[in-house]
Amino acid sequence: MKITFYGAARTVTGSCHMVEAAGKKFLVDCGMFQGKVTDQILNYDEFPFNINEVDFVILTHAHIDHSGRIPKLYKEGYTGTIYATNATMDLCSIMLADSGHIQEKEMEWVNKKRKRAGKKENEPMYTAQDGIDSLKLFKGIDYNQEIVINENLYFKLIDAGHMLGSSIVEIYATEDGKTEKIVFTGDLGNTNIPIINDPVYIKEADHLIIESTYGNRLHGTLEDQSEKFINIMVDTIKRGGNLIIPSFAVGRTQEILYEINKYAKKRGIGKEIKKIPVYVDSPLAVSATKIFQENPEYYDKEALNYLLKGNNPLEFDNLHFVTTSDESRALNEDLTPKVIISASGMCEVGRIKHHLKHNLYRPECTILFVGYQAKGTLGERIQTGEKLVKIFGDEIAVNAQIEYLDAFSGHADKDGLLKWIDKIKKKPKNIFIVHGEYEGQQAFKNAIIEKFGIPCVIPNYEESYTIDGKFINNEVIEYKSTRYDILEILSTLKEEVDLVSNKVKSDLKNNISTDELISIQSKLNSVKKALSKVK
Ligand SMILES: [Zn+2]
Repeated sequence: MKITFYGAARTVTGSCHMVEAAGKKFLVDCGMFQGKVTDQILNYDEFPFNINEVDFVILTHAHIDHSGRIPKLYKEGYTGTIYATNATMDLCSIMLADSGHIQEKEMEWVNKKRKRAGKKENEPMYTAQDGIDSLKLFKGIDYNQEIVINENLYFKLIDAGHMLGSSIVEIYATEDGKTEKIVFTGDLGNTNIPIINDPVYIKEADHLIIESTYGNRLHGTLEDQSEKFINIMVDTIKRGGNLIIPSFAVGRTQEILYEINKYAKKRGIGKEIKKIPVYVDSPLAVSATKIFQENPEYYDKEALNYLLKGNNPLEFDNLHFVTTSDESRALNEDLTPKVIISASGMCEVGRIKHHLKHNLYRPECTILFVGYQAKGTLGERIQTGEKLVKIFGDEIAVNAQIEYLDAFSGHADKDGLLKWIDKIKKKPKNIFIVHGEYEGQQAFKNAIIEKFGIPCVIPNYEESYTIDGKFINNEVIEYKSTRYDILEILSTLKEEVDLVSNKVKSDLKNNISTDELISIQSKLNSVKKALSKVK
């Protein structure tokens, strides 16, 4: 049995792992790379495997970093089955089309430039129609349903508690008369996420592939932070500002609405909340909210109780859904203080960029981050304190209050992940750590070794291992991974250059001494010189 990592290897996005077992080759997830430019380039590369050899795909959940290259698979001729829970399939029906739409728009912009430069137009990675058509390949299944591929291979999906329909994959493969259980956590949920259930603990695993987004960090609980959330909301409105919440359209947005609705029902504070207009400005979030409402069988007890009492937990009087771009624009023309929840969550694309442009410079406003911001994204730059950012070519000063609540995270933190491993009665013989930034993964690996003594591997992009964790050497992979390393260095270099550039640009009060300026200049000159020698 063999496993090759084609994404989310020493990075958080692009989940795609190929398993070869019991005579079959299959993928677990086929996600898109997001965030770092060096990662995004990989989306446009040819698949590093022969798609005709892929027997089937198991999709853990609908987030684009797990599902986003499925339409590309379809477009390039893959005709096999894609197994996912029914809720994941419903969510993919809107998310993959939306992703295709974004690809088309982005390529339109690139092509305008290419045309002006006399270059040939490029094709988008895939279109909205490819996204819709790829749904033909999906087969919706239930949690705990055994899917038998052949007499030596079957699998089940169980609730990962990360988003509606998200799953952990349990694979049972028999080779030479010996059955091994391989478990992929997918994205493992945080406990007490609104609406959905907590992740299911498993009894046993022979080999484990675990995510590590928060492998080295702890986050607060929603019990502690939901009051802070409501206070940020009320205070911002009192100051006369807007509260802007960049949020994943699917999952996080519905959880936030659920929390606001919960407080709107409380005595005292509820009265104030009910007066605050809340706008969800993302066509995708609007359709996703509908799908949430149509799938109550995936709800936890609290949310079901609301429903049984006749309350729809995702509806309240002061809640408005915005679909057209005219309505979206009008939100910033009208100065009534309001809450605007908009996508994308990491501020890279979508209408959130317009709202940031119109609100970031206003000190009375608040930008509230409620989700993970991958390195290099606009969201991460604002969150880590950059004072000047570029949006649609304009320089925007960051004067608004910047807040971050990590309890809304859809991911288990370090303790949550370790507890989940701890609950496995028959521990795995080895663990592969995926879906995390490399530094955090190393710390997480040490924590696992220290607590459980289980050997761990942090696979790199395109590396193959036996299921027991033994590296399978491959020269082609080494060449490609060097290429990847070069791109990585260039990306860091670009970030450093941006930092220096911002530092010098924003030095209005001549705080940088002449000596320091000369030193920066000479360092940059030597980098320039070194780079000019690269042919
Ligand atoms: Zn996810």
